[in-house]
Amino acid sequence: MSNPIPRVLLLGGTTEASRMASVLAEAGVEAIFSYAGRTENPLPQPLAQRIGGFGGVDGLAAYLRENAITHVIDATHPFAAQMSRNAVCACAQTGVKLLALERTAWVPGPDDDWRSVDTLEAAAAALPPAPGRIFLAIGKQGLSAFATRPEQFYLLRLVDAPAFPLPLPNTEIVLDRGPFTLANDLALLRRHRISLIIAKNAGGEGARAKLDAARALRLPVLMISRPALPARESVATPQAVLQWLAHGAALGV
Ligand code: NAP
Repeated sequence: MSNPIPRVLLLGGTTEASRMASVLAEAGVEAIFSYAGRTENPLPQPLAQRIGGFGGVDGLAAYLRENAITHVIDATHPFAAQMSRNAVCACAQTGVKLLALERTAWVPGPDDDWRSVDTLEAAAAALPPAPGRIFLAIGKQGLSAFATRPEQFYLLRLVDAPAFPLPLPNTEIVLDRGPFTLANDLALLRRHRISLIIAKNAGGEGARAKLDAARALRLPVLMISRPALPARESVATPQAVLQWLAHGAALGV
């Protein structure tokens, strides 16, 4: 039996998802790009677009059926674990094919000074006792985990100005959107006299400049490990996703 012509749902919100969208558009694949709706001005995509949650597993399963989706590409952030878990369940329920476009996790090199922790709370507990100047590079979610360490100064880099009072008393906010460059991140760390960086192990290129800058400046990094996800098929490049769409299976990573 031949494969049906794909009609794709691309779960996005990352630099990698935007690259995937361009590749799908260039290849003429019929696809809908989905944003969670966390940022005020999401980047326009060269695909049909929808914004907002689906309403859990059942809502996503209903969306897949109603829109005759044949394939889901999960290109969400590695820490968007709820969305990824929902996609696994909803695709299993509906028989829709699922592939994750997954970035390889970052690993420290010999000149890196990283300490791995499992959670944001563990990162807060691992901060040195003396007040320091922390680049808290975790986005806007989960900041309250650091309310237990109000003696620290936190530099936050956010896409939008926060619409809520921050749970941290001593902060400065830089508004910016990735991908970031080494030159800019070096300048940022120097300008704010940063003494330690807290990062999520996102992997990929869009956010790794801060780690290269940390190495150059010999700064320590508290690296939060990725959340566990259910087993799913995954590839590392948009080209491998195209092969999967064409052949009905992931042919290579
Ligand atoms: P999450 O905790 O896994 O998701 C929470 C809920 O948000 C999901 O259950 C779903 O709502 C909705 N959602 C998430 N991604 C969606 C998408 N692409 N399209 C439609 N609905 C979506 O996710 P999160 O950590 O809040 O991240 C939200 C978005 O920001 C993701 O798209 C992710 O790629 C992006 N992002 C996250 C991080 C991070 O550090 N977590 C960093 C950069 C970018 P329903 O259950 O109602 O369907």
